[in-house]
This record gives sequence, structure tokens and C-alpha cells, in this order.
Amino acid sequence: MAREFFNYIDGKWIPAQSGATIVSHNPATGETLGVVPASDARDVARAVDAAARAFEKWRKTPAPHRAEILRHVAEIIRARKQSLGELLTREMGKVLPEALGDVQEAVDMGMYMAGEGRRLNGLLVPSELPNKWAMAVRDPLGVVGIITPWNFPIAVPSWKIFPALVCGNTLVWKPAEDTPILAAEFVKIFEEAGLPPGVLNLVTGYGELAGAALVEHPQVKMISFTGSNEIGKLIAVQCAQLGKRVSLELGGKNAIIVLDDADIDLATDGIIWSAFGTSGQRCTATSRVIVTPDVHKSIAERVAERASKLRLGDGLLPTTDVGPLINKAAAAKVHEYSEIGKGEGATLLTGGDYATEGELARGHFYKPTVFDQVTPTMRLAQEEIFGPSLSIIRADSLAQAIQINNGVNFGLSASIFTSNVNTAFEAMRDIATGIVYINAGTIGSEVQLPFGGTRGTGNGHREGGGPPVLDAFTEWKSIYVDYSGRLQRAQIDTDSLVS
Ligand code: NAP
Repeated sequence: MAREFFNYIDGKWIPAQSGATIVSHNPATGETLGVVPASDARDVARAVDAAARAFEKWRKTPAPHRAEILRHVAEIIRARKQSLGELLTREMGKVLPEALGDVQEAVDMGMYMAGEGRRLNGLLVPSELPNKWAMAVRDPLGVVGIITPWNFPIAVPSWKIFPALVCGNTLVWKPAEDTPILAAEFVKIFEEAGLPPGVLNLVTGYGELAGAALVEHPQVKMISFTGSNEIGKLIAVQCAQLGKRVSLELGGKNAIIVLDDADIDLATDGIIWSAFGTSGQRCTATSRVIVTPDVHKSIAERVAERASKLRLGDGLLPTTDVGPLINKAAAAKVHEYSEIGKGEGATLLTGGDYATEGELARGHFYKPTVFDQVTPTMRLAQEEIFGPSLSIIRADSLAQAIQINNGVNFGLSASIFTSNVNTAFEAMRDIATGIVYINAGTIGSEVQLPFGGTRGTGNGHREGGGPPVLDAFTEWKSIYVDYSGRLQRAQIDTDSLVS
């Protein structure tokens, strides 16, 4: 019998009202890991109701006390890092060192937001009138709905849950259907750390049922969504109609620019790590390399050679460089783009097919794929593939490379390899993405800076870290205190003060 996991609603672990379940599998081996509730609108309504009832008390709990619980959560995650990392590899597929990094991100965010409990800075400014105090404070929003993808099953939820909680919101979380067991294990830690019932509720299930019900619920004041552009757009339209706030963190089509004066070995390392780490299933994964003429040939040769030697397998094995894709559909999508690339006239240097030798046949593996002679307008160069597929594009100058970088409907991350400091600063000025790296790959953000993107990658909010994350989960309230004892009129009585 498969191990059973439940929804967490109002501090209790309970099945879906319908009794329906979803099976979670290991994408490398096909092994069954357990079953979770396939929730519907009734379960979501119960969870939202619990969150709404818990809100008054939680918002009035002093922020340093809320933060104390979050610090405890982070400490437990740190103590359990190895076992959580192993579970993450088994349920999501990324290799263990990367899985441990995913878990570490939650420790970092938990600690960072625990510190925020003693800051949560507002604004204090001079008033234009005498004997008057002017300030602004942050208010929580109420019940926040959190919807997350499977590719960073601990890190991405932690970017949302910790800040939303420290700000005083109560939450209902719908994790991805491919990684629900990790979600249950993550929520257990909050319970263990003493988070009061109803403050964080977990509802597992399918996006179109449980996710949609969360978006539509009138008591949910905000949706914080990370996932594909397709679903993000759908949710944005629904939220606009319902008049609720929505924070979107969507896809990427990230590029590394390698200029003629770059350190070629360093650039090759950066490309391999950024393109094929997590099997290319990172929103910040490199899927385009833009090269200037003198380094084109050497980069193409080195990258193709290194990619062809990457060892595929179960991410728990120390011999594995690249794990599986999350599911059959994801592998099929990568393959579809290999066919599209060939059809568009790009040159396949390596990969381009499923990997099915021996044990690999049990999972969803795809050979690291590199295309050369890709032009900026090809679908291969424009659309998010979300797998181990890399396109090499030639540019004649820095200006053209940046133009190609900016010429996609995504704007998450970009990097440039150059040994010229002036060029680096020009690139920092002109690259139009939310994250820019100099002489490093396109991945590797830290929680103390904002994470998010421009153009189709988002709608202007920033989650993942830095002070702006607090703006996503709070409402500003400006407060004026007049202690003059008489009626003072702003913009009117000020005239008499200067005459
Ligand atoms: P997805 O298919 O859009 O799913 C994301 C979440 O939305 C899942 O929990 C999904 O549930 C749910 N969902 C699906 N349909 C829904 C609906 N109609 N209403 C409400 N919720 C719904 O994305 P994914 O495949 O899980 O993740 C990959 C994508 O995420 C990529 O595009 C990647 O670039 C992006 N991503 C972005 C960032 C960032 O910070 N910018 C970070 C990580 C990933 P199911 O699981 O049941 O489908």
C-alpha cells in the first residue's frame, strides 16, 4: 500500500472530501512514493475559511513573535536538510547536491524573514504642517492563496510562505501535483515549530480544480503564483475580474553572452552548469548562448563536447550529472522542440533524442541537446522549452548581442562573459532582465536581493527576496497624527507658514 498524505486544514491532517487521490512518482525510476488528496472546491473553501478565522489573531500577534516561529522552522529545516534533500531528489528528480541547495534556500529565506520580524520597516517623514506626525506602516492583506510549480518544490514556496507569514497574512497553499509529498513534509515542519492552526493550510490537487478554486474564492485577497506564462496569464485575467491582487513569477528564455575577450573555459563552465543543471528545468536556466564571431567556433565545440559527456541517471547516485525530466509530457515537449529546431534549419551538435539505455528507460530522461546556427527569430530561440536544450546564436557586436538578449518575450536572467570592465558596465546598463550576472551563469540568486523578471516573466512584483518582497504581501497605510489641537488644512494652511 502506498503511503498516504493529507491536506492540512485548521491544524488537522485530513483527506479530500471526495476521497479522491493523486499518486506521486519518482521521475527517475517510476517508483510510487505515496498518494495525496485530489482536492476540489469544497476542500479549498474549508481551508480558506480556516485561514480567514485565523487571520485576526495572527495579524495582531507581534511581528517579532511571528518571526520567532519562522526562525524555529528554519532551524528544523536545517537539521533535516539531508533527508528533505533526498526526498526532493526522489520526488522531483534533480541531483542531490542541487536538491540540498533547494532546501538551503528555505533555510536562508526563513532566517532572513525571521530577522524581518524586527524590522518590517515603514516610512516616517516630516509633515508639511507644525505639530503633525506623518508615517506609513505595512498592513497584511488577509488570506493569501499560494500556487507553486514543481521545479523548486521547497525554495519557491519558501520565497512566498515566509514573507507572507511574517507580514501577518494567513495562507492557503496549492503545490504542484508532481511534488505534493514535499509540500506535506514542509508544512509538517511549520506545525512542529508551533505555527497556530489555520495560519498555513495545505490543499493538494490538480491546478484546474483546486488551483482554480483558490483563485476564484472571494475571501482570498491575493494570489501569489509561480509557474508557466500560459497559466499565469489565465490567473491574471481572473484576478483582474475579481479585483484581487496577483503576483506573477513566470517563465524565462535566459541567455549567456560570450564576447571575444571572455575567459572561454570559465564561460564554458558557466554554460554547462546553467543550461543542464536541474536538466534545464529552472526558470533561470540558460537556453540561449549568444556569441561574437571570434569565440563562436570554440564555444560551440567545447559546449557540445561537454554536454555529450554528461552522465544521466538517478539523482541520488553520486555518478549522476543530470537527472530526469519531471514527467513524460515534459520530455515529449523537449523532443518536440528538437524536431522544430531541425525543421527550422538549426544544426544539431549533440543530443536531440530521448535517453532510454538500460535503467534510464524507467524514467523520463532526455539527452543534453545543443543546436548551433540558431537565428534569433526561430521558435527554438524564442519559446521556453524548460529542458536540457541549448541554442547557440551568433552576434556581430556587443550591441547586437544585447539586442538579441532583450528580443524575447521573457526577461528573467541574463549573463555576460567579458574581461573588459567598461563592457561589463555597458551590459549592466542595457540588458533588460530582472537579474544580470557578470562572468557567472544565469542561475544562483541569493535571498537578500529581489528575484523576478521583466516583460512576460512577471507583472512587476518581486518575490524571492530583498526588501521588495514585503511589498508583494502588504498594503501600505499612511497615518497622519495631528497634535496641534486645532484643525490644520494640508496644502491650504501651509501658505501662511511661509508668508
Ligand atoms: P504550471 O503548469 O503553470 O503550474 C504551476 C502551478 O499552477 C501548479 O501548481 C499547477 O497545478 C497550477 N495550475 C495549473 N492550472 C491552474 C489553473 N487553471 N488555476 C490555478 N492553478 C493552476 O507550471 P509548472 O509546469 O508547474 O512550472 C514550470 C514553469 O514555472 C516554467 O514556465 C518556469 O519558468 C516557471 N517558474 C518560474 C519561476 C520564477 O520565479 N519566475 C520559478 C520557477 C518556475 P498542477 O501542478 O496540478 O498543474
